[in-house]
Amino acid sequence: MIWSGENTLRYSRNLLVEELGEAGQERLFASSVLVVGAGGLGSPALLYLAAAGIGRIGVIDDDRVDITNLNRQVIHRADAVGRWKAESAAEGLRALRPDLEVDVYPVALTAGNAADLFRRYDAVVDGSDNFSTKYLCNDAAVVTGRPLVHAGVLRFGGQMLTVVPGAGPCLRCVIPRIPPRKDSPGCAEAGIVGAAAGVVGAWQAMEAIKLLSIAAPPQGGKLLTIDTLTNEVSCLAVVRDPSCPACGDSPRIVEPLSAAEYEPERPCPR
Ligand SMILES: [Zn+2]
Repeated sequence: MIWSGENTLRYSRNLLVEELGEAGQERLFASSVLVVGAGGLGSPALLYLAAAGIGRIGVIDDDRVDITNLNRQVIHRADAVGRWKAESAAEGLRALRPDLEVDVYPVALTAGNAADLFRRYDAVVDGSDNFSTKYLCNDAAVVTGRPLVHAGVLRFGGQMLTVVPGAGPCLRCVIPRIPPRKDSPGCAEAGIVGAAAGVVGAWQAMEAIKLLSIAAPPQGGKLLTIDTLTNEVSCLAVVRDPSCPACGDSPRIVEPLSAAEYEPERPCPR
């Protein structure tokens, strides 16, 4: 039963929130989310999605837990070093929510499996750590019509863009070309303070929760920049580009492209 005595207590603070209420909570129980990456962004996103009462969560990550991950990837315990992140994350989720249905994918998200995986979920959270995967997520979301919460994080801050296919721009509308590697250092080069990933990843979970529960969910078109060093948060309105190869009026990307097309510095597909 959805409303067992325990659930009434467990979600009692959600129920008090007017915009959510019982109807919104029941929508969360019935919804599913795929989280791409169980790292710095995925860890808080996964935990908050599970805690909110999402019915089914998929976690895909082809990496293993490394000791250098532990400053930020808080879903993994110290004794998980060396294990698949997807499996370690699933264990953390089940400890929090024994009734949660978890789908574990210890594999890479590829052009070959992305669309099929996205279709199994109501929304997708992109917690990946590289632009190739972010553009693959973008294209798969547009092709399948699934809302997608993008984010990236480095040092003290990050950016977030929610893509709602058919109701706003996609990542390619905002940044048409996959940035070159020299312009997109990762956490291993530039570093990251773990709590910054916590802030951005939790915000991604919030976006997904709103998309799946409230009567007036986000419509996309807002590029959020969060700097925890200066405490500055900015929100830039962005619009759909009618010539966008993914979501434009005459899209050229009708299925995820071949793997080579997601290499940095590739020109925009024509
Ligand atoms: Zn677009």
